Amino acid sequence: KQTLIEVRDLKKYFKVGKKQILKAVDGVNFKIYKGETLGLVGESGCGKTTCGKTVMGLYPATGGQVFFDGVDIHGLNKKEKKEFTRRAQIIFQDPYSSLNPRMTVADIIGEGIDIHGLYKGEERKEKILELLDLVGLNKEHSLRFPHEFSGGQRQRIGIARALAIEPEFIVCDEPISALDVSIQAQVVNLLIELQEKKNLTYLFIAHDLSMVKHISDRVGVMYLGNMVEFATSDVLYDRPLHPYTKALMSSIPIPDPKEEKQKRRIPLEGEIPSPINPKPGCRFAARCKYATEACTHETPGLREVEPEHFVACHRVEEIGE
Ligand code: SF4
Repeated sequence: KQTLIEVRDLKKYFKVGKKQILKAVDGVNFKIYKGETLGLVGESGCGKTTCGKTVMGLYPATGGQVFFDGVDIHGLNKKEKKEFTRRAQIIFQDPYSSLNPRMTVADIIGEGIDIHGLYKGEERKEKILELLDLVGLNKEHSLRFPHEFSGGQRQRIGIARALAIEPEFIVCDEPISALDVSIQAQVVNLLIELQEKKNLTYLFIAHDLSMVKHISDRVGVMYLGNMVEFATSDVLYDRPLHPYTKALMSSIPIPDPKEEKQKRRIPLEGEIPSPINPKPGCRFAARCKYATEACTHETPGLREVEPEHFVACHRVEEIGE
Protein backbone atom coordinates (compact mmCIF):
# COMPACT_ATOMS: atom_id res chain seq x y z
CA LYS A 1 0.00 0.00 0.00
CA GLN A 2 1.26 3.44 -0.91
CA THR A 3 0.78 6.26 1.59
CA LEU A 4 -0.62 9.50 0.16
CA ILE A 5 -1.23 11.42 3.40
CA GLU A 6 0.60 11.07 6.67
CA VAL A 7 -0.45 13.11 9.69
CA ARG A 8 2.02 13.15 12.59
CA ASP A 9 1.17 14.49 16.03
CA LEU A 10 -1.07 17.15 14.47
CA LYS A 11 -2.22 19.96 16.77
CA LYS A 12 -4.52 22.85 16.08
CA TYR A 13 -5.19 25.21 18.97
CA PHE A 14 -7.26 28.39 18.91
CA LYS A 15 -6.85 31.23 21.37
CA VAL A 16 -10.08 32.14 23.12
CA GLY A 17 -9.91 35.48 24.90
CA LYS A 18 -6.60 36.30 26.59
CA LYS A 19 -5.78 33.14 28.48
CA GLN A 20 -7.95 30.31 27.23
CA ILE A 21 -6.81 27.79 24.65
CA LEU A 22 -9.21 25.65 22.66
CA LYS A 23 -7.44 22.44 21.76
CA ALA A 24 -9.53 21.45 18.73
CA VAL A 25 -7.01 18.86 17.49
CA ASP A 26 -4.48 17.68 20.02
CA GLY A 27 -1.86 15.21 18.84
CA VAL A 28 -3.53 13.20 16.08
CA ASN A 29 -1.70 10.60 13.96
CA PHE A 30 -2.92 8.68 10.91
CA LYS A 31 -2.07 7.64 7.36
CA ILE A 32 -4.29 7.55 4.30
CA TYR A 33 -3.34 5.11 1.57
CA LYS A 34 -3.70 5.88 -2.14
CA GLY A 35 -7.14 5.00 -3.45
CA GLU A 36 -8.78 4.40 -0.07
CA THR A 37 -11.37 6.27 1.97
CA LEU A 38 -10.55 7.11 5.54
CA GLY A 39 -13.63 7.99 7.55
CA LEU A 40 -13.48 10.35 10.51
CA VAL A 41 -16.35 10.26 13.00
CA GLY A 42 -17.28 11.75 16.36
CA GLU A 43 -19.81 14.11 17.91
CA SER A 44 -19.83 17.75 16.86
CA GLY A 45 -16.99 19.62 18.52
CA CYS A 46 -14.66 16.59 18.50
CA GLY A 47 -12.27 18.30 16.09
CA LYS A 48 -12.88 16.24 12.95
CA THR A 49 -13.64 19.21 10.68
CA THR A 50 -10.71 21.22 12.08
CA CYS A 51 -8.54 18.18 11.45
CA GLY A 52 -9.70 18.03 7.80
CA LYS A 53 -9.09 21.74 7.25
CA THR A 54 -5.64 21.57 8.83
CA VAL A 55 -4.76 18.59 6.62
CA MET A 56 -5.75 20.78 3.64
CA GLY A 57 -3.58 23.65 4.90
CA LEU A 58 -6.64 25.90 5.30
CA TYR A 59 -5.60 26.32 8.93
CA PRO A 60 -1.91 26.51 9.79
CA ALA A 61 -1.06 23.71 12.25
CA THR A 62 -0.10 24.66 15.81
CA GLY A 63 2.18 21.63 15.92
CA GLY A 64 2.97 18.41 14.10
CA GLN A 65 3.17 17.70 10.40
CA VAL A 66 1.04 16.78 7.41
CA PHE A 67 2.88 14.98 4.62
CA PHE A 68 1.30 14.84 1.16
CA ASP A 69 3.11 12.35 -1.05
CA GLY A 70 6.08 12.58 1.31
CA VAL A 71 6.31 16.40 1.48
CA ASP A 72 5.29 18.48 4.52
CA ILE A 73 2.55 20.84 3.28
CA HIS A 74 3.22 23.44 5.93
CA GLY A 75 6.66 24.21 4.48
CA LEU A 76 5.56 24.76 0.86
CA ASN A 77 6.45 27.89 -1.11
CA LYS A 78 3.81 29.73 -3.16
CA LYS A 79 4.32 27.71 -6.33
CA GLU A 80 4.34 24.39 -4.49
CA LYS A 81 1.23 25.41 -2.58
CA LYS A 82 -0.61 26.06 -5.84
CA GLU A 83 0.38 22.61 -7.08
CA PHE A 84 -0.79 21.09 -3.78
CA THR A 85 -4.20 22.79 -4.11
CA ARG A 86 -4.50 21.29 -7.60
CA ARG A 87 -3.80 17.81 -6.30
CA ALA A 88 -5.91 18.14 -3.13
CA GLN A 89 -9.42 19.54 -2.96
CA ILE A 90 -12.18 19.94 -0.38
CA ILE A 91 -15.94 19.54 -0.64
CA PHE A 92 -17.78 21.55 1.98
CA GLN A 93 -20.70 20.73 4.21
CA ASP A 94 -23.09 23.39 3.05
CA PRO A 95 -23.88 23.30 -0.65
CA TYR A 96 -26.03 26.43 -0.11
CA SER A 97 -23.30 28.80 1.00
CA SER A 98 -20.23 27.28 -0.66
CA LEU A 99 -21.32 28.19 -4.21
CA ASN A 100 -21.14 31.82 -5.37
CA PRO A 101 -24.79 32.81 -6.07
CA ARG A 102 -23.77 35.29 -8.80
CA MET A 103 -21.82 32.79 -10.88
CA THR A 104 -23.26 30.33 -13.38
CA VAL A 105 -22.59 26.66 -12.88
CA ALA A 106 -20.18 26.73 -15.85
CA ASP A 107 -18.19 29.56 -14.26
CA ILE A 108 -18.15 27.88 -10.85
CA ILE A 109 -16.77 24.67 -12.35
CA GLY A 110 -14.45 26.57 -14.71
CA GLU A 111 -12.87 28.76 -12.04
CA GLY A 112 -10.30 26.17 -10.93
CA ILE A 113 -9.57 25.23 -14.56
CA ASP A 114 -8.70 28.90 -15.23
CA ILE A 115 -6.64 29.39 -12.05
CA HIS A 116 -4.50 26.40 -12.92
CA GLY A 117 -4.54 27.13 -16.69
CA LEU A 118 -5.63 23.59 -17.53
CA TYR A 119 -7.95 24.11 -20.52
CA LYS A 120 -9.02 27.00 -22.75
CA GLY A 121 -11.78 27.79 -25.29
CA GLU A 122 -13.67 24.83 -26.73
CA GLU A 123 -11.70 22.32 -24.70
CA ARG A 124 -12.66 24.14 -21.49
CA LYS A 125 -16.32 24.14 -22.52
CA GLU A 126 -16.23 20.44 -23.31
CA LYS A 127 -14.50 19.66 -20.05
CA ILE A 128 -17.24 21.45 -18.08
CA LEU A 129 -19.99 19.53 -19.92
CA GLU A 130 -18.13 16.29 -19.34
CA LEU A 131 -17.92 17.08 -15.60
CA LEU A 132 -21.64 17.86 -15.42
CA ASP A 133 -22.36 14.51 -17.03
CA LEU A 134 -19.97 12.77 -14.65
CA VAL A 135 -21.85 14.03 -11.59
CA GLY A 136 -25.30 13.30 -13.06
CA LEU A 137 -26.32 16.80 -14.22
CA ASN A 138 -27.07 17.78 -17.82
CA LYS A 139 -25.62 20.42 -20.13
CA GLU A 140 -28.63 22.73 -19.86
CA HIS A 141 -27.61 23.19 -16.24
CA SER A 142 -24.33 24.89 -17.14
CA LEU A 143 -25.83 28.35 -17.64
CA ARG A 144 -28.04 28.34 -14.58
CA PHE A 145 -27.33 29.78 -11.14
CA PRO A 146 -26.95 27.84 -7.86
CA HIS A 147 -30.30 28.99 -6.39
CA GLU A 148 -32.12 27.13 -9.20
CA PHE A 149 -30.95 23.79 -7.82
CA SER A 150 -31.90 21.48 -4.97
CA GLY A 151 -29.45 20.72 -2.13
CA GLY A 152 -28.41 17.40 -3.68
CA GLN A 153 -27.82 19.01 -7.09
CA ARG A 154 -25.78 21.79 -5.51
CA GLN A 155 -23.58 19.25 -3.81
CA ARG A 156 -23.11 17.60 -7.24
CA ILE A 157 -21.98 21.01 -8.56
CA GLY A 158 -19.55 21.26 -5.62
CA ILE A 159 -18.20 17.81 -6.49
CA ALA A 160 -17.82 18.78 -10.19
CA ARG A 161 -15.96 21.93 -9.13
CA ALA A 162 -13.56 19.87 -7.01
CA LEU A 163 -13.02 17.33 -9.82
CA ALA A 164 -12.44 19.99 -12.49
CA ILE A 165 -8.74 20.25 -11.71
CA GLU A 166 -8.26 16.50 -11.57
CA PRO A 167 -7.20 16.13 -7.95
CA GLU A 168 -5.90 12.91 -6.38
CA PHE A 169 -7.16 13.61 -2.87
CA ILE A 170 -10.46 15.09 -1.66
CA VAL A 171 -11.45 16.02 1.86
CA CYS A 172 -15.22 15.51 2.05
CA ASP A 173 -16.17 17.68 5.00
CA GLU A 174 -19.63 16.56 6.14
CA PRO A 175 -20.77 16.53 2.48
CA ILE A 176 -24.16 15.02 3.26
CA SER A 177 -25.12 16.57 6.61
CA ALA A 178 -27.14 19.41 5.09
CA LEU A 179 -29.02 17.12 2.68
CA ASP A 180 -32.33 15.28 2.97
CA VAL A 181 -31.89 11.71 4.15
CA SER A 182 -33.32 10.44 0.85
CA ILE A 183 -30.58 12.28 -1.08
CA GLN A 184 -27.66 11.40 1.20
CA ALA A 185 -27.17 7.86 -0.15
CA GLN A 186 -27.21 9.14 -3.76
CA VAL A 187 -24.39 11.58 -3.06
CA VAL A 188 -22.36 8.97 -1.17
CA ASN A 189 -22.85 6.46 -4.00
CA LEU A 190 -21.76 9.10 -6.51
CA LEU A 191 -18.58 9.69 -4.50
CA ILE A 192 -17.90 5.93 -4.46
CA GLU A 193 -18.46 5.69 -8.21
CA LEU A 194 -16.15 8.66 -8.89
CA GLN A 195 -13.48 7.20 -6.63
CA GLU A 196 -13.44 4.02 -8.70
CA LYS A 197 -13.38 5.89 -12.03
CA LYS A 198 -10.71 8.41 -11.05
CA ASN A 199 -8.73 6.46 -8.44
CA LEU A 200 -9.39 9.15 -5.83
CA THR A 201 -8.36 9.11 -2.19
CA TYR A 202 -10.86 10.49 0.32
CA LEU A 203 -10.86 11.76 3.87
CA PHE A 204 -14.59 11.47 4.59
CA ILE A 205 -15.77 13.42 7.62
CA ALA A 206 -19.31 12.88 8.84
CA HIS A 207 -21.40 12.18 11.89
CA ASP A 208 -23.72 9.75 10.12
CA LEU A 209 -22.13 6.49 11.22
CA SER A 210 -23.96 4.25 8.72
CA MET A 211 -22.85 6.37 5.75
CA VAL A 212 -19.26 6.44 7.00
CA LYS A 213 -19.31 2.66 7.25
CA HIS A 214 -20.73 2.38 3.73
CA ILE A 215 -17.98 4.47 2.11
CA SER A 216 -14.89 3.95 4.30
CA ASP A 217 -12.11 1.36 4.19
CA ARG A 218 -10.78 2.44 7.58
CA VAL A 219 -12.30 4.70 10.21
CA GLY A 220 -10.90 6.89 12.98
CA VAL A 221 -13.03 7.95 15.95
CA MET A 222 -12.31 11.35 17.46
CA TYR A 223 -13.24 12.58 20.89
CA LEU A 224 -12.41 16.06 22.14
CA GLY A 225 -9.42 16.60 19.87
CA ASN A 226 -7.96 13.10 20.27
CA MET A 227 -8.17 9.98 18.14
CA VAL A 228 -9.54 7.31 20.48
CA GLU A 229 -9.89 4.35 18.12
CA PHE A 230 -8.76 3.50 14.61
CA ALA A 231 -9.43 0.33 12.62
CA THR A 232 -10.75 -1.08 9.38
CA SER A 233 -14.38 -0.21 8.91
CA ASP A 234 -15.64 -3.80 9.42
CA VAL A 235 -13.67 -4.35 12.62
CA LEU A 236 -14.56 -0.97 14.10
CA TYR A 237 -18.28 -1.40 13.53
CA ASP A 238 -18.45 -5.08 14.53
CA ARG A 239 -16.01 -5.08 17.42
CA PRO A 240 -15.42 -1.58 18.83
CA LEU A 241 -13.14 -1.67 21.87
CA HIS A 242 -13.00 1.88 23.23
CA PRO A 243 -15.86 2.66 25.66
CA TYR A 244 -16.74 5.79 23.65
CA THR A 245 -16.82 3.95 20.31
CA LYS A 246 -18.91 1.17 21.87
CA ALA A 247 -21.53 3.70 22.95
CA LEU A 248 -21.41 5.48 19.60
CA MET A 249 -21.80 2.25 17.59
CA SER A 250 -24.59 0.93 19.79
CA SER A 251 -26.67 3.97 18.83
CA ILE A 252 -26.81 2.99 15.12
CA PRO A 253 -30.32 1.78 14.31
CA ILE A 254 -30.43 -1.79 13.02
CA PRO A 255 -32.37 -1.89 9.70
CA ASP A 256 -33.94 -5.31 10.28
CA PRO A 257 -33.71 -6.49 13.89
CA LYS A 258 -34.80 -10.01 12.90
CA GLU A 259 -31.79 -10.58 10.68
CA GLU A 260 -28.96 -9.06 12.67
CA LYS A 261 -27.91 -9.82 16.18
CA GLN A 262 -29.61 -7.40 18.49
CA LYS A 263 -27.13 -5.01 20.03
CA ARG A 264 -27.55 -3.60 23.49
CA ARG A 265 -27.76 0.16 23.42
CA ILE A 266 -25.11 1.74 25.62
CA PRO A 267 -26.23 5.16 26.78
CA LEU A 268 -23.76 7.99 26.36
CA GLU A 269 -24.29 9.99 29.47
CA GLY A 270 -23.46 13.63 30.06
CA GLU A 271 -22.45 16.34 27.66
CA ILE A 272 -19.19 16.41 25.73
CA PRO A 273 -16.90 18.55 27.95
CA SER A 274 -15.47 21.82 26.65
CA PRO A 275 -12.28 21.57 24.60
CA ILE A 276 -11.12 24.83 26.21
CA ASN A 277 -8.23 24.14 28.60
CA PRO A 278 -9.09 20.40 28.77
CA LYS A 279 -8.22 18.51 31.94
CA PRO A 280 -5.21 16.18 31.90
CA GLY A 281 -5.72 12.44 31.57
CA CYS A 282 -8.21 10.63 29.34
CA ARG A 283 -10.59 13.16 27.82
CA PHE A 284 -13.44 10.64 28.04
CA ALA A 285 -12.97 10.04 31.79
CA ALA A 286 -15.88 12.28 32.88
CA ARG A 287 -18.34 10.14 30.89
CA CYS A 288 -16.69 6.74 31.20
CA LYS A 289 -18.08 4.14 33.59
CA TYR A 290 -14.74 2.31 33.61
CA ALA A 291 -12.70 5.37 34.64
CA THR A 292 -10.21 4.89 37.49
CA GLU A 293 -7.98 7.34 39.32
CA ALA A 294 -5.16 6.71 36.81
CA CYS A 295 -7.44 7.71 33.90
CA THR A 296 -7.79 11.22 35.27
CA HIS A 297 -4.08 12.03 35.17
CA GLU A 298 -2.47 9.79 32.55
CA THR A 299 -3.43 10.45 28.94
CA PRO A 300 -3.76 7.14 27.09
CA GLY A 301 -1.97 6.98 23.73
CA LEU A 302 -3.19 4.97 20.73
CA ARG A 303 -1.92 1.38 21.05
CA GLU A 304 -2.17 -1.39 18.48
CA VAL A 305 -4.19 -3.98 20.40
CA GLU A 306 -4.54 -6.32 17.44
CA PRO A 307 -3.18 -5.96 13.89
CA GLU A 308 -4.41 -2.67 12.36
CA HIS A 309 -6.68 -1.96 15.35
CA PHE A 310 -5.59 0.95 17.55
CA VAL A 311 -7.24 2.00 20.81
CA ALA A 312 -6.45 4.79 23.29
CA CYS A 313 -7.66 3.39 26.60
CA HIS A 314 -5.72 2.25 29.68
CA ARG A 315 -8.21 -0.48 30.46
CA VAL A 316 -9.04 -1.83 27.01
CA GLU A 317 -7.84 -5.37 27.82
CA GLU A 318 -9.91 -5.54 31.02
CA ILE A 319 -13.09 -4.17 29.46
CA GLY A 320 -13.07 -6.68 26.60
CA GLU A 321 -15.70 -6.79 23.87
FE1 SF4 B 1 -12.44 5.08 30.30
FE2 SF4 B 1 -10.04 5.17 31.47
FE3 SF4 B 1 -10.31 3.99 29.11
FE4 SF4 B 1 -10.50 6.63 29.31
S1 SF4 B 1 -8.68 5.40 29.71
S2 SF4 B 1 -11.81 5.31 28.14
S3 SF4 B 1 -11.53 6.85 31.27
S4 SF4 B 1 -11.23 3.34 31.04
